[in-house]
Amino acid sequence: MACQTYFRPRKNEIYVLETYDNCTPYKIWLADLWECPDCGTQLIAGYGARAISERYMTNFKVHLKRVTHTIIGCPKALK
Ligand SMILES: [Zn+2]
Repeated sequence: MACQTYFRPRKNEIYVLETYDNCTPYKIWLADLWECPDCGTQLIAGYGARAISERYMTNFKVHLKRVTHTIIGCPKALK
C-alpha cells in the first residue's frame, strides 16, 4: 500500500462485518474509514477491542443493516 502515509480520516464509526465460511455473517465491528485523497484507496483501521455484536445476539440483524464494509471482501454478505 504505497500511499498509506497520505491517508486521511473519511468517516468515524463505520460498521464492518466479519464473516466466516464463504461470507456467512459472523461479527460486527465499529471502526474508522480512511481514504487516500489522491487515488481513493480506502483503509479500515481503529477497530474496537471487541465486536459490538455477534451472530447469536438478538440485536445482530439490527446492526447488520448498518454495515457498509466487510473485513475480507465479501460484498455478497451485504445484501
Ligand atoms: Zn493513494
